[in-house]
Amino acid sequence: MSDPEFFDHGELVAVLTTQPLDRLLDYKASEGGCFPGAFVEVPLGPRKVLGVVWGPGRGDFDRAKIRSVIRVLDVAPMREEMRSFLGRAADYTLTPMPAMLRLATRAPGLGDPPSMRKIYRLGDRAPDRMTDARTRVLEVLRDYGGLAFTLKELAEMAGVTSSVIKGLVKQGAVREEDSPRDLPFPRLDPDLSGKDLTDDQAAAAATLRAAMRSDTYGTTLLKGVTGSGKTEVYLEAVAEVLRLGKQALVLLPEIALTAEFLTRVEARFGARPAEWHSGATMTERRRVWRMVGQGEAQLVVGARSALFLPFRHLGLIIVDEEHDTSYKQEDGVLYNARDMAVLRAAICGSQVILASATPSLESWANAEAGKYDRLELTARFGAAVLPEMNAIDMRAEQMQAGTWISPTLRRAVLDRMAKGEQALLFINRRGYAPVTLCRACGQQIGCDHCDARMVEHRFLKRLMCHQCGETKPVLETCPHCEVEGKLAPVGPGIERLAEEAEAAFPDANIAVLSSDMFGSARALKAKIEEIAEGEADIIIGTQLVAKGHNFPKLTLVGVIDADLGLQGSDLRAAERTFQLMRQVAGRAGRAERPGQALLQTFQPEHPVIRAILSGDEIGFWKAEAAERQVAGVPPYGRMAGIILSGPEVGPVFDLGNAMARNDAPLRQIGAQVFGPAPAPIARIRGRHRVRLLVKAPKGVPLQEAIARWIAPLRLKGDLRLSVDIDPQSFY
Ligand code: ADP
Ligand code: ZN
Repeated sequence: MSDPEFFDHGELVAVLTTQPLDRLLDYKASEGGCFPGAFVEVPLGPRKVLGVVWGPGRGDFDRAKIRSVIRVLDVAPMREEMRSFLGRAADYTLTPMPAMLRLATRAPGLGDPPSMRKIYRLGDRAPDRMTDARTRVLEVLRDYGGLAFTLKELAEMAGVTSSVIKGLVKQGAVREEDSPRDLPFPRLDPDLSGKDLTDDQAAAAATLRAAMRSDTYGTTLLKGVTGSGKTEVYLEAVAEVLRLGKQALVLLPEIALTAEFLTRVEARFGARPAEWHSGATMTERRRVWRMVGQGEAQLVVGARSALFLPFRHLGLIIVDEEHDTSYKQEDGVLYNARDMAVLRAAICGSQVILASATPSLESWANAEAGKYDRLELTARFGAAVLPEMNAIDMRAEQMQAGTWISPTLRRAVLDRMAKGEQALLFINRRGYAPVTLCRACGQQIGCDHCDARMVEHRFLKRLMCHQCGETKPVLETCPHCEVEGKLAPVGPGIERLAEEAEAAFPDANIAVLSSDMFGSARALKAKIEEIAEGEADIIIGTQLVAKGHNFPKLTLVGVIDADLGLQGSDLRAAERTFQLMRQVAGRAGRAERPGQALLQTFQPEHPVIRAILSGDEIGFWKAEAAERQVAGVPPYGRMAGIILSGPEVGPVFDLGNAMARNDAPLRQIGAQVFGPAPAPIARIRGRHRVRLLVKAPKGVPLQEAIARWIAPLRLKGDLRLSVDIDPQSFY
């Protein structure tokens, strides 16, 4: 490109705005001019909107009518590589550029002059009287040299209440100052001593450090059973990147994980990294966004959208638990953060580490094909060994109606309790019961807006639709036949299992871990810490517990329904069940005591269950890969989902049929269209949904063909179309 390096006042510039327009708009550069990539405020009709200077203006518009940029915002311009990343990501996901720009500017008041707030630093007088609390405050301030903290930060770091600090301010021992809100993040020290690594870990860390120094793009799949020290090892790669003066990003799948994780990072580097997730306040988001752009946040720990932060010198992206399905955004812009991480790194010449105990088949195949490097940690740290895994054949158990803990599992739990160890009962279903059935008419209670059943949540005292979130009070009378008192819960959810466990283990201290039972990430974190310290005999959990928490006293995992994931038509059902079961089983025996996992199943002969039990991972991957190869599905073929929706089912199907008939652009690349068919969830929030599935050979320009296919469509009325490249789920 021969773009100019600067636009003078009055020169025409093309601006990409966050507004849903399908083209760039020309403006005149404002006084003082601007750089390409500058964040600007421009007039659009009667409004002022946010935009980025994308290049020279096209000048295909009456010059006299062209308006001026209102102002250039006081933030670092968007870098060339970021613009190119957004463009490529837009092409890949078939997302309009304004939506990509919105993703990249998800912080409020980006250009506002920073507001002020109080900060605290070391004063020059000694307090009249020292207390332990006061000593701790002064120690923290001395430890960090001249750094200043907010009241909250300082109180937390010193473990004191804010009144202790205020007291010190009155005495002049601590100074209170006004400061712009967006403080740089404290420096991280890569050279604080980490843990002593085992030989295996040290070798992996050395390989990663060398990769970090290579100054080129590369992806490494870091595989190792849960507890093998993957986190310890990749933190060494982060340390190397920090030494090189570059920035690092760690993506984690769940907010719940970050709490525990941040403490570990702090222990390794002496200060907390920047956090980016949906729970962060607007001010925090703004601070992170700006500091990342200025290079004053060295490490960001965040959820998938952190990928779109304006890093200045990104050296490394880590995608922890890379197989996790929550990396696929299922709302708005449909992207897979794992794939986008690789794309961004390839553009910036950075390194990627994909960490997992149970990699996705995609990553496994990329490593097999030599596209990714592979590192494997085989042993668990210390004496911990992988648990022994056994099936409980439910066909042979004497079960009472309405119970789900088999006698065999019950005995095993009692046995662990007698030894003072913890047991985990795992069920991957929230709520009390998945189905509420009327025993008079046989009808189930469904959602009024979706084709989904209402799930009873006793804890919340509501029925809830897990599709659209709609809730209603628990009913006494059947809405279909109006008979009273005949509604009955069918099947187990975590709350019902908890009830059963309380009856089966009256002496046990039982803790229930389900995401909807905690008002905040903080409350959840507190609970997890309590459990880790041994404050429970039995833990009852949903898949929340499958992810990375350390419970040292946990030695038994009982999986209530190992068959649950095997049902359904999802192409990844087997892979997911395999991963989830292994992750859950990996919770047992993390410290010095060996663990055991018991899987309740009605299909002990099922190939997936057998592969889990025998621990034959390679065997499982090979079999699964072979099946997908034959079927020509990802990662050996390409897929895209098209979801059409509208308030009336007829027009939605008409559109789908018209698309299926006019499929020439797809046929030209050897792709096939399936459907239209009702989507697996045929109605959500009152909208009827119809799905087309496109299957194409690997290596063809699928996105480009789809773009040509849908370009001529005019969506009438309230019809909507969304494209999902590489769909993860099929609803
Ligand atoms: P993974 O990420 O593979 O699940 P972690 O890095 O979380 O494994 O390690 C599991 C546990 O073992 C953690 O509590 C970690 O601090 C500890 N650990 C791992 N390696 C070492 C080591 N070399 N020295 C001390 N503790 C270690
Ligand atoms: Zn609903």
